[in-house]
Parts: sequence; structure tokens; C-alpha cells
Amino acid sequence: MTTIAEPPSIWTAATAVDDRRPRSKQTQLGASETVCEMRAAHRIAGTEPTDPTDKKMAILGTYIHEGLLTAARTEYGWLVEKATASELVRGHVDAVQLDAETAARLPKRLRPVVPSQDGVTVEDVKTKSTYKWDQVLRYGATAAEIRQTYLYAGMLRERGFEDRPGQRQIARLGPLNVQRIRLRFINRDNGSEFTQEFAFDEFEAATARWWVEQVHALPGPHAARRDFDGPGLDAVCDYCPVRTACWGMPARPGIPVQTNLVHDDKDREQALADYVAGAEQEKAGKKVKDLARKKLDNSPAGDYGPNRLKWTGGNAAKSTDVQAMVDLHEEARIPVPMIPDAARMEKNLKDAGIAVPQRENGKLTARSINVSPVPAAKPSKVA
Ligand code: SF4
Repeated sequence: MTTIAEPPSIWTAATAVDDRRPRSKQTQLGASETVCEMRAAHRIAGTEPTDPTDKKMAILGTYIHEGLLTAARTEYGWLVEKATASELVRGHVDAVQLDAETAARLPKRLRPVVPSQDGVTVEDVKTKSTYKWDQVLRYGATAAEIRQTYLYAGMLRERGFEDRPGQRQIARLGPLNVQRIRLRFINRDNGSEFTQEFAFDEFEAATARWWVEQVHALPGPHAARRDFDGPGLDAVCDYCPVRTACWGMPARPGIPVQTNLVHDDKDREQALADYVAGAEQEKAGKKVKDLARKKLDNSPAGDYGPNRLKWTGGNAAKSTDVQAMVDLHEEARIPVPMIPDAARMEKNLKDAGIAVPQRENGKLTARSINVSPVPAAKPSKVA
């Protein structure tokens, strides 16, 4: 028999190429790494990655970036993927659309086809999944995404592009008069596009710079704040290369790392109070949602204010036709499987008043939490 060797995974090649990218080897804090204070602190401290990360989504994002930004450069003449740096942070700005005045100081081949009418515009492109798309349309960029773009804009205003091979001419422009910020979101599943644009705000830029200065001023990662709730709760932690350095190992395998946040009964008291408060909010929210759902049941699909109503389902449900399958088996002379029907046998025994026999199956039952008020202490009897 000839054995055909499994073809190698294309992701092995893609990951190897990605690991050789200059950005993957960068040791200074990158503006794109300012999403979490703890993560940024580990980067500044030079912590080696403690955890393997699945890079597929990040690599796909890089490919989409490269394709779209190359198109923006060749078709619109925007400056794309150019480096800027300060002594605290560095990064590659996705796109800069120069205004006519600034562009006039460059050779024609580096000028935008259509200069920005509103002053130099700094753009950051973000790819998102359909799962996150609703959130993008409803709330726009996150605080961390806005901070990252302001870091680029701030560095360009203070210093301009970095003076390095491949961008010497644009570096000679010196500090740029950035006037606009643009965040462009691309749905990586269907290509939908959404942009958010606003005027440059000096206060926002100072806040972003201050954020980075604060992290640099920390005595080390042990003093940094975790900006996310950890693996299993925030996807950014699931993909974080220093998640073990950040959270440590759980006391025993299989329990969440967040258990490391509870050290004594005071912590337990606080966690229980948080649990009760969260459950109350959840209950109140569900009550509002359930009433609204019932009220809408007779409403046609359409746009109502900022929200779009769509209906799915409502079609005749189908289930497997067992008798038709038996007939088809007999026609095709395939033996009909005679596996005992456990559900039926269980019902028969219960109907006959006989206990259903049980045995351990090697699995553990799910642990459920049950929180109730501590009963009031009984009044002591007075003699
Ligand atoms: S695991 Fe989460 S909280 Fe910790 S450093 Fe990484 S992103 Fe930040």
C-alpha cells in the first residue's frame, strides 16, 4: 500500500515568516502594544514570552493590512506603513494622507493623488470579525484603539517620520501638522467597511503620551494594572504571550487562573459581593429585555432609530424521519442497527417504579455556585 505523506500546514510557513518580521523582533514598546498596562509593562521589562500563542488571526490581519494599504499607496498616494518613534514608544503608522501644503514639499511621486482637505490625516486600520462588528458600528473605536492612533499622531506632530532607510525624504518634512484622526474598520469576514473620523485633540494626545509615561515610570510589571479579566474571559488575554507571567499558575490544574486573585477571606467577601451585585444587574437587565422582546413580537423588520430589527427562523422545523430511514435501510439491504434505546429503557424502569441503575463514568459533574445571605444570628436567651 502506498502511503501519501500529509502536506505540511501552510500556517507553519506563515508563522515562520511572521516571526522573522522586524516588528516581531522589536524590543522597544510598540504603540500597538499599549492595549493593556500589564502587557506594556512586561514588554518594557523585556519579559520573554511565557505562553505559545495562536497567531493565525493576527497573521490574517497583517495580510489584509498589507493588501489594502498597498492599494491605498498605489491608488491614492497615501504614505503607508511608515515608522515614527519617540524615546518611549515606536510604531508604524498605517496611513497618512498629507494636505496640499505639506505634500508640496515632497517629490511628486510621494504626494497624495487627492490631498486631505482638512489637514494632515493619520489613519489606523483595524480588522474585526463579524462577531465584533455590531459593537464597532454601535460604539466605534475602543479607548485603547483611540490611544494607539493618538500615539502615532502625537509622535508625528512632535517629531515627524523616523529618519531611517526607505523614508529619508518624508523624514525631512520634520514635525507634521496633524489635524485629523481616522479609524477605519474592515470586517474580515465580508469586507464591510466603517470609518470614524474626528479632529485632532491635543488633550487626547497628551493623555495617550501620559499613559505610556506612567507605564515606563512603574518599578516593574508587578506594579502594573491588568486591564482585562484574564484567559477565558477576555480574548485579548487568551492570545497574550505573557499570560502566565501576568496571572501565574493556578493552585491546581483545571481551575481558573483568576483564583490567584483571592488570597484571604476579605477577598472572598468582596468576590461574593461582586457576584451578588452582578447577578442583580443581570436579573434586572433580563427583565427589561424579556418585556421588550414580547412587545416587538408583532413588529415588521426595519430600521427604528439607531437600531435595525431583523427576524430569523420561524420556518417549519425538521427532524430525522426514523421510519423512512428504516425503510431505506431495508430497501438497500443494509442491516438496521439494533443499539439499545437508553432513554426508552430508562422510562420503562421509571414507569415500573424500578430505580435506574447508575455507575460512575469517569467525568466530574459541573461545579455550581450557590450564594445566599448568611442567616441572622439567633437571639441569645435572657435568663
Ligand atoms: S494576560 Fe491579559 S491582563 Fe495579562 S498582560 Fe496579557 S492582556 Fe494584560
